[in-house]
Amino acid sequence: MYRRLILILLIDILFSLVTFGQVSVRLFSSQSPESAVFSVTEGRYEIITFNGGNISVNKNEHVLISRYNGKLAIKTRSENGFICDSLLFLGKTRNDSFSLRINGHIPVRQYYSGDLKCFPDLGTLVLINNCDVESYVSGVVKAEGGSGKNKEYFKTQAIIARTYMYRYFDKHLSDRYNVCDNTHCQAFNGLSSDTLINKAALETKGLVILSQDSTIISSAFHSNCGGETSTSGDVWLASQPYLKSVADPYCLSSRNARWEKRLSLNEWLGFMKRLGYEGQTVDPAAFIFIQKSRLTDYRTGSFTMPLRTVRSEMNLRSTFFSVLADGDSIILRGRGYGHGVGLCQEGAMSMAENGLNWNKIINFYYFNVLITDIKNAVILPNQPYRASFTSQPPLWNSMNSPPPDSYRDPSLLRKEGE
Ligand SMILES: [Zn+2]
Ligand SMILES: [Zn+2]
Repeated sequence: MYRRLILILLIDILFSLVTFGQVSVRLFSSQSPESAVFSVTEGRYEIITFNGGNISVNKNEHVLISRYNGKLAIKTRSENGFICDSLLFLGKTRNDSFSLRINGHIPVRQYYSGDLKCFPDLGTLVLINNCDVESYVSGVVKAEGGSGKNKEYFKTQAIIARTYMYRYFDKHLSDRYNVCDNTHCQAFNGLSSDTLINKAALETKGLVILSQDSTIISSAFHSNCGGETSTSGDVWLASQPYLKSVADPYCLSSRNARWEKRLSLNEWLGFMKRLGYEGQTVDPAAFIFIQKSRLTDYRTGSFTMPLRTVRSEMNLRSTFFSVLADGDSIILRGRGYGHGVGLCQEGAMSMAENGLNWNKIINFYYFNVLITDIKNAVILPNQPYRASFTSQPPLWNSMNSPPPDSYRDPSLLRKEGE
């Protein structure tokens, strides 16, 4: 038992010698894979198990890893199968990459660089990739921002993704990695093959957004603000000085600038009653509500309800809408898509297309911020692990509280080609 613990610990230590500019990402974190096929696509790997001799895996060779009785069963083409507690695929040439294929409802194959650690945990195979921050950042921009956009926009998204990663670098510390690969942290489907995105990440290498006190900001963003972004305190409990409302003329003709939803009076009353409305009116005109600039509450007569509650209850695209009456129907006429806090993606895209650079775009949406190398960031007191990426002496402060879960707006998840 002790021996097993020591072996796991050794692999942990080897893997956690995360050098400057590296991040560890849990892969396929929402799929709970039972097994995976590891294939070397570039360079050469060594399998380290501490249970026996190390095994070399060359380009185009495959290794099957499966969960087996609380351990891992490993099968390579050249070796007989064997069982181990955990293992590490260690890249040996400094230019090592691999693919992983998992089986599930839809078999998925994705490409990664760097090293890979595998161990069984709670009925699943845990796969943790230790890779270069910049290839992680370009992978996130590809997964969250799609392809075919202006380079200045990609640079903006790269800075935002890097900022987010460093701010939440300790989010999964107790799970022994930095970030997961789904939208709980940031979507990451492996290496980006988009050369423009990869260039944008490299040309902004190390840059993050800091607030006035040099701490890393919450780089919130959303799809379209409808012409006016939200103040963070109106949407979440925590208010941030750099997340204030701004009038945005850039996104007004974009795809998600406007939306409309028509309901019968009965449907509308059903929703209102679920939200606690007790009035007996049958006149649609009584529900009229006009929102010229962003408000926080919907009001009709003496009934008041936070717009964010109405939004989530009715699954609306935004809280920025007016309620109109048309005969026996209610029309919700809305603007924007998402929570509206921070950077407006469609506005940023149109700013980039109009020749504005990433510095102008970021400073338009975030107030009084500094875009600088991560080395200049100040460490927060509850984040000792961050000492690994900054050389600055810590200047403790307790300004920030973590954002609520709604920080990540589900509407931001972009499908390929959308
Ligand atoms: Zn996560
Ligand atoms: Zn906007």
